[in-house]
Amino acid sequence: MASFERFLQIGLALDPIHVGTGSARIGRVDLTIVRDPVTNIPKIPGSSLAGVYRTYVAMHQEENRQQQIQQASQAGQQPQVREKPYYPDCAGLGLDDNRGHCRKPDCPVCTVFGFARGAGQEGGFAGLAAFTDAHMLLFPVPTRQGPMWVTSPMALEMIGVTVNGVDDEAVYLAEGQENKLNLGWLLLETRKCEQMEAIKNHLANLGVPDYIQDRLALVPDRLFAHIVNSNLEVRTLVSINPETGAAEDRALFSYEALPRGTVLVWEIIAKNPQHFRINGQIITAVSSPKDVHEKAEQAHNYLKHLGIGGMGTRGMGRLEVLYSDQPSDSQSAQCTPTASNQPSASTSQGGEQP
Ligand SMILES: [Zn+2]
Repeated sequence: MASFERFLQIGLALDPIHVGTGSARIGRVDLTIVRDPVTNIPKIPGSSLAGVYRTYVAMHQEENRQQQIQQASQAGQQPQVREKPYYPDCAGLGLDDNRGHCRKPDCPVCTVFGFARGAGQEGGFAGLAAFTDAHMLLFPVPTRQGPMWVTSPMALEMIGVTVNGVDDEAVYLAEGQENKLNLGWLLLETRKCEQMEAIKNHLANLGVPDYIQDRLALVPDRLFAHIVNSNLEVRTLVSINPETGAAEDRALFSYEALPRGTVLVWEIIAKNPQHFRINGQIITAVSSPKDVHEKAEQAHNYLKHLGIGGMGTRGMGRLEVLYSDQPSDSQSAQCTPTASNQPSASTSQGGEQP
């Protein structure tokens, strides 16, 4: 049996999402979000995802435990559940000695997400589920033709779609058009992408809604980071003094966030429980990589309603998972520019020059 399996996740931001750096002021923004150091594109770190998934799976397990206790007491029986609550004990960092992680091989939270080294110096456990960073797949940008969802070859590569021929400093669309198109304040030449239909079908298989599939705009990788960073949501807020009910002096602050409608992609790598032991004992909470992924998926309904990141009380952070399964077959698409002002491509493709 494989030692691990990968599961692709596609999520749609139902609210603006702010996963902050906790420091660093950039330009006019006080509270900045995390960016990839190489591409400079905002992302949600895998460590943030792992923490939020852990909390929500613990909540789900605890709700089940409470339900069983209630049912047993109604039937006048002794409940067949463990004493220790899953939430909050098995959630969080688990460093508190009294209310820390249970560290049991039959705990779905501690086996899937791991646990810290115990007070008695017994070993820690890394957990059976690993989370990649959540990267930007489709990013909504205002244009004079209404919102468009911008993507790039590098972003599409993460869902197994290889796109070639997106080389011009231009925006590639499903339909060719005479005029230039603005993406935010950036005005670009347009090109027709012949293979947009193939990309669209692939996104449809991943649960991306029609209204997004119909409004795709493909740009070269070097433009993508630029367009994303110029079109993040930036809001300004003011702190209110609770005693006076008026604005605090000098308490104006701004924050940035991924806008509502952003589509993100991440992976859960599920390890095979049969290859691991906890304090010499066989893991019984899960038996296969698929099992590990199913436990992690219990967090998705909570992500949709309780969200991720900061300022949840200000109506932020809800993330709906659109797709959660093994990756479908990869495919490649050729975006040959065929705009009228562009000679049709006659250069070699993959070295097929006669
Ligand atoms: Zn536990």
